[in-house]
Amino acid sequence: MSIRELYNEKSRPSLSLEFFPPKTETGKRNLLERMVRMSALDPLFITVTWGAGGSTAEKTLELAAITQRSLNVPVCMHLTCTNTDKTVIDNALRTCQQVGIRNILALRGDPSIEDSVGQERVTQEPVDFEHAVDLVRYIRTQYGSYFCIGVAAYPEGHCEGEAEASEQDPLRDLPYLKEKVDAGADFVITQLFYDVKKFLTFQKLFVDHVSAEVPLIPGLMPINSFLLFNRAAKLSHASIPKHILDKIPPEIQPDDNAVKSICVDVLADIIDTIYRETNGRVKCFHFYTLNLEKAVAHIVAKSDVLHHIMKEAEEEEEEEEAKTNV
Ligand code: FAD
Repeated sequence: MSIRELYNEKSRPSLSLEFFPPKTETGKRNLLERMVRMSALDPLFITVTWGAGGSTAEKTLELAAITQRSLNVPVCMHLTCTNTDKTVIDNALRTCQQVGIRNILALRGDPSIEDSVGQERVTQEPVDFEHAVDLVRYIRTQYGSYFCIGVAAYPEGHCEGEAEASEQDPLRDLPYLKEKVDAGADFVITQLFYDVKKFLTFQKLFVDHVSAEVPLIPGLMPINSFLLFNRAAKLSHASIPKHILDKIPPEIQPDDNAVKSICVDVLADIIDTIYRETNGRVKCFHFYTLNLEKAVAHIVAKSDVLHHIMKEAEEEEEEEEAKTNV
């Protein structure tokens, strides 16, 4: 089913989950078991990432197809277009059609590729697609309205490569985001962020200048250690506000369990603040799970806005247990 329709139909706050395809068969088996357990959180949809340049094409398509077939949750497959031949894109989209996947997150991907000696370089090859909007247009032209298309947005501004954070400016990206929506994007998922004020400012800009109808879904990454927290924020060019850093003083930073617990509260607070400050207009929260299970469940349990999901999952489990005890 289309994410846009599901989003509009769902009156209560919900969540969505992102997974990446594991490299090994054992990893895949473990992940599928975890996904089955996590589907108790009643995700609105599940997304499966796509390695830049199609590097995980086979594994992404396989995981997306199995998920679509075996879980009762709509799948959204990520698809990047830079450095990618049209035949790869067509093969991916046709496979999605064959297995009943109706949602695609249309992305540009990062233009740098690794050369034979492992050096990053920006490709000089002629490309079929330059920006994500080209992929959105291509999907609409070739596949009509079959696919519900999502696109990416950056509450703190998109940043290329190693550019300085000061070079990020959400206002600069806004016309291009509007271009993607005007070209046919049905929903938007944001880059991860930890500064809720920056998200709220962006959300207002989005409603005023891009669309008041298209769902804007905030991207959140649970924090599993201080090291990973810093690394994820750096890679995503997301700032960490001082009030969050103050909660994790140096003596606590090496203690992963303490950091996790503090950050569960931080993320639950981000969710509750967004829902409250947007008067429920933003009502689905996307988790970059890193294929991990527990942190998301802890955040859901802690958030006032998402708590009902945990309660319902527990009630369902109790009902199942009662049935097996008869
Ligand atoms: P675009 O929308 O093309 O924007 C890229 C840059 O170009 C921006 O600075 C924008 O302002 C500018 N721009 C856009 N259009 C124009 C134009 N017409 N003229 C001039 N400038 C323009 N990467 C992966 O490899 N695999 C994934 O699975 C993946 N999943 C992601 C999921 C989410 C939710 C997000 C937020 C990102 C994801 N990424 C993924 C990363 C993404 O591919 C990179 O951030 C990439 O650098 C930009 O992709 P985009 O689709 O936002 O590009």
